Amino acid sequence: MTPPAWLIARKRDGGELSPEEVEFMVQGFLRGQVPDYQMSAFLMAVYFRGLTPRETVALTRAYLESGERLDLSSLPGVKVDKHSTGGVGDKTSLVLVPLLAAAGLKIAKLSGRGLGHTGGTIDKLESIPGVRTELSPQEIVSQVKEIGVCLAAPSPRICPADAATYALRDVTATVESLPLIAASIVSKKLAGGTDVFVFDVKYGSGAFMKSREEAEALGRSLVFLAGEFGKKAGFILSPMDQPLGFAVGNALEVEEAVEALRGRGPEDLRELCLELGSLALRLARGEGREEARRRLASLLDRGEALERFRRMVECQGGDGRVVEDPSLLPRARFREAIPSPLTGVVERLDALAVGRAALLLGAGRRRKGERVDPAAGVRLTRKVGQEVEREEPLAYLYASDPSLIPPAREAFLSGVIIGG
Ligand code: URA
Repeated sequence: MTPPAWLIARKRDGGELSPEEVEFMVQGFLRGQVPDYQMSAFLMAVYFRGLTPRETVALTRAYLESGERLDLSSLPGVKVDKHSTGGVGDKTSLVLVPLLAAAGLKIAKLSGRGLGHTGGTIDKLESIPGVRTELSPQEIVSQVKEIGVCLAAPSPRICPADAATYALRDVTATVESLPLIAASIVSKKLAGGTDVFVFDVKYGSGAFMKSREEAEALGRSLVFLAGEFGKKAGFILSPMDQPLGFAVGNALEVEEAVEALRGRGPEDLRELCLELGSLALRLARGEGREEARRRLASLLDRGEALERFRRMVECQGGDGRVVEDPSLLPRARFREAIPSPLTGVVERLDALAVGRAALLLGAGRRRKGERVDPAAGVRLTRKVGQEVEREEPLAYLYASDPSLIPPAREAFLSGVIIGG
C-alpha cells in the first residue's frame, strides 16, 4: 500500500484517494499503524481540500465497518431514527421519539452525550432518577418490540474508528469539515440498524454550521450518503441563534419536554417536533404533510405521546412519576435571577452564550467523560422579540455551587442585546 505520507500529500494537493486508500488510512489509524501525527495531517488536508463524494462514501463505510451494528431485523415494520446536528436547549428527541412511537413507528434511537456548549439527549434522560441508557442489543430489541421505542447510549463497539478520529479532530481543529461531519453522523446512524433517517440540521451561532447555506449543504450530503447505503432520509433546517424553548440544562429540559408532551410547552419546540415528525411519517409511510402534522398534534394534545414517554422511562428503570410530578427531578440548591439591564425588546439571546453559561453552571462537560450536574442550567423568561422591563428577570440560573453563578452570569449577559 502507498505510504501514508504520499496519501496525505495527494490530498493536500487536491487529489483523490481510492476507496481502498481511505479504508487503509482509517483502519491503519485504528490499529496504530498510522500514527496520530499522520492522521492529524491527513484530517487537516481534508479540512482544506474536502472529500469527493466517492471518498466520503468510502470514509462512511470504513467507520461503519470498524465496529458492530445493531440488528433490528427481528422487528416488524419500518424502523425510524432521528438525528440533530446539535444545539442549545434542544430537547426535541425526548418529545419526538415517544411521539413517533405513539403514531405507530418503531424507534430505536442511539443518542449521544453532550460536549462543550451543546447538550446531549442521554444526559437529559439520565437526569430522571433510575433511568438506564446503557442497554444491551437484546434489551433494545425487546423494549422496541414491547413498547415501540427505546432511547439508549451507543455501545463503544459502534463505529470505534469514528470515535477515535473524532477525538483527534476535537484537538486538531478539524471538527468543522462538512464531509468529515457527514461521514461521522451517517456511519453511526447506519450502525443503529434503522431504515429511515430524519435529520434536523441546525444553523446559527449555537450550531456547527453558522449559515443556512452551509447547513443546507450538510443536509444534502447526509441524505446523499444515506441513499448510497440504501436508506431513505430527509432533512429540515432549523435555526439555532437562540436556544430552543426556554430551558437549557438536563432536568430543566426534561421538565419542558414533558410540558410539550402534554400538548403545551414552547411553540418553537412543538413546531420543530411536528415538522420532523411529519417528515418521518412521510418517508416511512407516504403520509401527506398536513395530515401527518394533524395526527401528531392530536397525539400530543390527547396525552398519548406522554404516556409512551412514561412507559419508556419505566422500561428503562426510571421513575415514571416525574411525568406528573416534576419535583421528583433533581433540583438545584441555588437559583439566581438575571435582571434585565434595560427596558426594551430582546434583540439577541445568543445560543452559544446561553450554552456556555449552562456549561459554567455544571450542566455540560468540557471534556469527554466529565460528570454533569443534572440540576444545573438556565431558564429563560423571554425569547427574541419579546419585551422586558428594566430589572425584570430575563432568566434564572440554577447551580449546586453558588461560586459558579457569577462567571455564568457574565457569559449569559455577553450574548444579550435589548433594543429600544
Ligand atoms: N456530530 C457527529 O456525530 N460527528 C461530527 O463530526 C460532528 C457532529
